[in-house]
Amino acid sequence: MALFDIFKKRPAEVEVLAQVNRELEADTERREDIVAERAASEVAAEAAREREALNAGLEKTRRGIFSRLARTVAGRSRVDEAMLDELEEILITSDVGVDTTVGIIGRIEARVARDKYMNAAELQSILREEIAALLEESAGDKDNFGITLRPGEPYVLMVVGVNGVGKTTTIGKLAAQLTRAGKRVYIGAADTFRAAAIDQLQVWADRAGATMVRQQHGSDPASVAYDTLRSAVANGADAVLIDTAGRLHNKIGLMNELTKIRNVMAKVVPDAPHEVMLVLDGSTGQNAFEQAAQFTAATKVNSLAITKLDGTAKGGVVIGISDRFRVPVRYIGVGEGIDDLQIFDRREFVDALFGS
Ligand code: GDP
Ligand code: GDP
Ligand code: MG
Repeated sequence: MALFDIFKKRPAEVEVLAQVNRELEADTERREDIVAERAASEVAAEAAREREALNAGLEKTRRGIFSRLARTVAGRSRVDEAMLDELEEILITSDVGVDTTVGIIGRIEARVARDKYMNAAELQSILREEIAALLEESAGDKDNFGITLRPGEPYVLMVVGVNGVGKTTTIGKLAAQLTRAGKRVYIGAADTFRAAAIDQLQVWADRAGATMVRQQHGSDPASVAYDTLRSAVANGADAVLIDTAGRLHNKIGLMNELTKIRNVMAKVVPDAPHEVMLVLDGSTGQNAFEQAAQFTAATKVNSLAITKLDGTAKGGVVIGISDRFRVPVRYIGVGEGIDDLQIFDRREFVDALFGS
C-alpha cells in the first residue's frame, strides 16, 4: 500500500476509533451510574434492615408497655385526670423510672392546661416529642459507626461495667463495624481476671479482623492496656478498644484499678481514654439504673451502651437512664450476632417504641 493510501484511509479509521472511544466512554458512564444506583439502593436496604432489626429488637417493649399506652390513649376523645393517672402508671411499670415519669406527666399536664382541648391523637404525638426530648442525641461520625476518629493518633475507648452485661460482645460488634469501614482496630484484653475472658475476646477480634494485644491470665490489666496503646501507636491504628473485667461498683479496689488503667494509657496517648463507655444490660431494668448511678459516681463515664433490648419488655429503661444521667446512649444491643449493635438514634428509637 502506498503511503498516500494510508493517509487517505486515516480519517475514516480515526473516525471509527473516535466512535469506539465515545461508546466506551458512554459505557463507562452507564456503568458508573449503575454502580452509583446499586450503592444507593444498598444504603437504603441497609437502613431498612436496621430499622427492622430495631423494631424486632424492641418488639417486647412495644407490645408489653407501649401498646398498652396506645390503647389507653386511643379509646378516649379527651385528655383527663384519669387518663393521665393511667399514663403515669404505665410509664412507671415500664421501667422509665419514677422521676422521669413525674417529669413527663407534669409537662403534659401543663400543655393540657394551656391548650385545653387536646385530643388523644395530639397526646400521642406530644408524648413522643417529650420522650425524644429526654433522650440525649449521641453525636459522632456516622461513617465510622458513631466514632469521630483523631488524625495522627488512635481513638481510645475503654469499656466498663459489671459482669455479664455484654462488654466483650459489644467490643466485638463495634470492632467489626470499624474494620468494615476500613479502619485499623486494636483490642486490648485487659480483662485478665476471668480465665476464659481472653480467648472469648480473641474469637471476636478474629471475626472482626482486628488485632488483639494480650498477656496471660492474671496479669496486670494496666500493663495490658499500656502494651495495647504502644502497639496501636507504633502501627498507626485508628481505634483502640479496651475490654475490662466486670466489677461491682462497691469494690473500691476494682474501681481504683480503672483509674490506674486510665493513668497508664495517658502516658502513651496524653488524652486517652477519649471515651469511657459503660455497658448496661437493659433487661435488668432498675438494676441497670442502679449501676449507672454507681459507676457515674465512681468513675468518669461519657457514653452508654445498653444491651439485650431484644427479649425484654424493659426497653423503657433507656428513657429514664438517659434523662437522669445526661450521658448519651451511643449504642444499643439488639441481639447476640455481630451485626446486632446499632448506633442509638432517638427518633428511630421512639418510632420503634410506639410503632410508626
Ligand atoms: P461481659 O461479661 O460484660 O463481657 O459480657 P459478654 O460480652 O460476655 O456477654 C454476656 C452474654 O450476653 C453473652 O452470652 C452474650 O451473647 C450476651 N449478649 C451481649 N449483648 C447482647 C444483646 O444485645 N442481646 C442479647 N440477646 N444477648 C447479648
Ligand atoms: P470476694 O470473694 O468478695 O473477695 O471477691 P471475688 O471472689 O470477686 O474476688 C477475689 C479477689 O480478686 C478480690 O480481692 C479482688 O481484689 C480480686 N478481683 C475480683 N474481681 C477482680 C477483677 O475484675 N480484676 C482484678 N484485677 N481483680 C479482681
Ligand atoms: Mg467480658
